[in-house]
Amino acid sequence: MIRCIGRGIRSRIFPRKATFCSSVDDTAKARSIERKNVLRFSVDRSGLPESMAINEELLGNKEELTPLGKELRTLIQLKGPITLHDYMSHLLNHGIHGYYHSSLDKIGEKGDFVTSPEISQLFGEMLAVWCISIWEQLGRPKKIKFIELGPGNGTLMEDILKVSSRFPDFHNSLHIYMVELSESMQKNQQKKLQCGEMSIENRIKSFRSPLNKNKISWYQFFNQIPIDDTPSIIIAQEFLDVFPVHQFAFTPKGWREKLVDLDTSSDSTYNFRIVLSPNATPASMSLLNKNLYETSELKEGDSVEICPMALATVEDIVKVVAGPGKGAALLIDYGETFTQEDSIRAFKKHKQGSILSEPGLLDVTADVDFGMLSKCAVKKGASVHGATTQGEFLLRMGIIERLKQLIDLDTTSDAQANDLVKSMKMLVDQSHMGNRFKIMSISHNSLQVPGF
Ligand code: SAH
Repeated sequence: MIRCIGRGIRSRIFPRKATFCSSVDDTAKARSIERKNVLRFSVDRSGLPESMAINEELLGNKEELTPLGKELRTLIQLKGPITLHDYMSHLLNHGIHGYYHSSLDKIGEKGDFVTSPEISQLFGEMLAVWCISIWEQLGRPKKIKFIELGPGNGTLMEDILKVSSRFPDFHNSLHIYMVELSESMQKNQQKKLQCGEMSIENRIKSFRSPLNKNKISWYQFFNQIPIDDTPSIIIAQEFLDVFPVHQFAFTPKGWREKLVDLDTSSDSTYNFRIVLSPNATPASMSLLNKNLYETSELKEGDSVEICPMALATVEDIVKVVAGPGKGAALLIDYGETFTQEDSIRAFKKHKQGSILSEPGLLDVTADVDFGMLSKCAVKKGASVHGATTQGEFLLRMGIIERLKQLIDLDTTSDAQANDLVKSMKMLVDQSHMGNRFKIMSISHNSLQVPGF
């Protein structure tokens, strides 16, 4: 059935700049694969008064502090080392200098990293096929909440809307909710979706777009969207990896948390360093006791990484899809089905850097722990499908058939056909994004979910 829908999709290549300049091609992979061990840690000596004093002479070989770096330095001087989680949270979400609030180009050739929707329209088309299949199972409702979490440049939503306009009943049922924290990213998305004049009701911004007959609304937080009995489809493509993580190490004295302290030594050019908390912390005491993580098998020297915001988002997703309205969510990200020790990475201009370097100017990301998210969703009463690899999912959804269909078009040039094949391989091949990227669905128990 799904393949039939795939064949019905209007055959057209959406104009997209070829993104295969080698550095971009490499980062799509690298952002998900390389894990240089950038974090070294030592024992926290912040209790000692001299650690407050900064020997300015030693700062000569240090990287120049960014505005956010200066704020973090003051914060740590005043209150002592902060958790890695809080440090990462500042790097990404600080109201003025946080990476996602800045006007820096982030996604695409000119930015720091590239994502699947930016690589090929085939990605959005396969997701559209999935959404139509879920909508059919929901009984072809006249109104559906179509929620995208972290829509980036708006490319995925644009591709889904363009391709699904061929299925008017589905297309007209869509009431689109974009969840985006950053004002500047919201503006990019509104431009991409050709939004016209804005209207504001109850502080919610919505716009008319030529791409859909219903208004498109923007929210900063997912849990601001009211829950009612309208069915929902939720897409979270490279969204869960933006949340800060805690890291804990199992020491002879018990669990200790990784913190960020100032580095005034001459051994490093960075102004910050990772240290271990001298005692248990509130997060180590609460998060390691949640039954989501089996700590009894761990031994001294092991570390774990936990992302509470990803767990909280999954709980919110379950409230929507397993609630009275029913629905399904698709989560796509790089990650594993098990808990890792340290997967934090930083990127700037398609090159990997250190999370201790240039606070606020680098994209900082961590792998998604699909195993833990799956346990959490089941515990809260939803069905979970997968996680499977992105490659397998796209093949099951009919990406090869769609590729052939596009190549066979009279209007497709040889160069376009070559680009289509290259981009399909990039999305599906095990050696590129096909294996490291996983896809998992969380749904109402009554739904049969395709692709798994
Ligand atoms: N889905 C897009 C973008 C991925 S990047 C793609 O695949 O191309 C992550 C996106 O989430 C960006 O749009 C970023 O601005 C947004 N974002 C980051 N932190 C967020 C948060 N806490 N809440 C909502 N959106 C956030």
